[in-house]
Amino acid sequence: MADYLISGGTGYVPEDGLTAQQLFANADGLTYNDFLILPGFIDFIADEVDLTSALTRKITLKTPLISSPMDTVTEADMAIAMAKFEQGFITDPVVLSPSHTVGDVLEAKIRHGFSGIPITETGTMGSKLVGIVTSRDIDFLAEKDHTTLLSEVMTPRMELVVAPAGVTLKEANEILQRSKKGKLPIVNDRDELVAIIARTDLKKNRDYPLASKDSHKQLLCGAAVGTREDDKYRLDLLTQAGADVIVLDSSQGNSVYQIAMVHYIKQKYPHLQVIGGNVVTAAQAKNLVDAGVDGLRVGMGCGSICITQEVMACGRPQGTAVYKVAEYARRFGVPVIADGGIQTVGHVVKALALGASTVMMGSLLAATTEAPGEYFFSDGVRLKKYRGMGSLDAMEKSSSSQKRYFSEGDKVKIAQGVSGSIQDKGSIQKFVPYLIAGIQHGCQDIGARSLSVLRSMMYSGELKFEKRTMSAQIEGGVHSLHSFEKRLY
Ligand code: IMP
Repeated sequence: MADYLISGGTGYVPEDGLTAQQLFANADGLTYNDFLILPGFIDFIADEVDLTSALTRKITLKTPLISSPMDTVTEADMAIAMAKFEQGFITDPVVLSPSHTVGDVLEAKIRHGFSGIPITETGTMGSKLVGIVTSRDIDFLAEKDHTTLLSEVMTPRMELVVAPAGVTLKEANEILQRSKKGKLPIVNDRDELVAIIARTDLKKNRDYPLASKDSHKQLLCGAAVGTREDDKYRLDLLTQAGADVIVLDSSQGNSVYQIAMVHYIKQKYPHLQVIGGNVVTAAQAKNLVDAGVDGLRVGMGCGSICITQEVMACGRPQGTAVYKVAEYARRFGVPVIADGGIQTVGHVVKALALGASTVMMGSLLAATTEAPGEYFFSDGVRLKKYRGMGSLDAMEKSSSSQKRYFSEGDKVKIAQGVSGSIQDKGSIQKFVPYLIAGIQHGCQDIGARSLSVLRSMMYSGELKFEKRTMSAQIEGGVHSLHSFEKRLY
């Protein structure tokens, strides 16, 4: 036992937890809920965690989040809103309230190295904008004035130049240039703060014009196609419209059809990035990597609306699928998208910690303002429809979803998904900042300053995991309360 004591800072610490390799060493399939990550050492603030990550061999995103190509999740509104989060909008800035003091601003300045701080009613994002405090407002205050309330020194809302949510980066840039200000708050139609843009970031954007943009400086956008003859026409139209990435949309991507389509696209449009999938094993991934894909989409049967495993007997628990495919594909420099089964921001962190470079979400982004479809009420609850692309409902409405889930010759259509509804989640202008901040906090607890550090910690064995028994899972959730309200952000 003496060995186990740490004394004088030089003691021996026993091995603890499992490496990813050990975690997946036996044949049990693991889901995100079946394990946890052991915390590491924190010596940086969460804000600093760099979430830059590769979508494909050639495309890097500033945040690792992608919306699913599903007709109840992604159309133009969602695509545009998601792309903007990768373009220099700061969605998780330091925010203070009018009752904070000048001392709080100085402290924030020491910790974060800047001083243009938006002031909202409650001191949080998503609350009504009431002013901004810049160094010019406080420069000439004496030491004794540190207790002065910000309400007395801030530049009030009516004197601020702001931009409406939905503004493009180009428009924001022009507004900033005209206003000659350092920060541009972005507000929604209720005047609540949803993001800010800093002049310095725009300058960076000018200096690094290729960051998260295509060669025409347009927002990045991907689109899905099937593997039929008429998909080649859709492909032509998509490339003419400027799509940067093509996703080959199939629930089982390891097929002669998909391999042929990869060859076709690579020959006709050599510069177009192609994501293949879906796959859940290294053997499936091998064929697509050999065919020349630039990214892989991983997941079979883990989606919230999915009944593939029940009906087809095929699939794989998503934790295992992501680890196995990512571990194989990284040797060829092919990034992996963890697609489906993401229920919480913790699941996003786990997917990234298992080697995924980005995460694709359906249910998590469904029923947001930006998702297609109208809201409706049922039993007094405001809902939007969310359905699997392999549900009979989706199939009857769209021939493209049929192609993902059915073969041309199929006489009987077998559903692989269900159709349901999800409660109103509000705008992704608030939800995605929550996801981004959540991932940063997860990485901070782990002790990873960036997603690339996180992945190298995992592959080196430094990152430690632990399996979760059923009772551990119960303990890890809210328990023993008579009632509670779960508000996330
Ligand atoms: P979610 O994020 O758990 O809701 O899963 C979304 C993912 O489920 C999508 O990105 C697709 O990969 C997958 N998916 C979409 N429709 C279906 C379906 O009908 N059956 C099975 N999987 C589906």
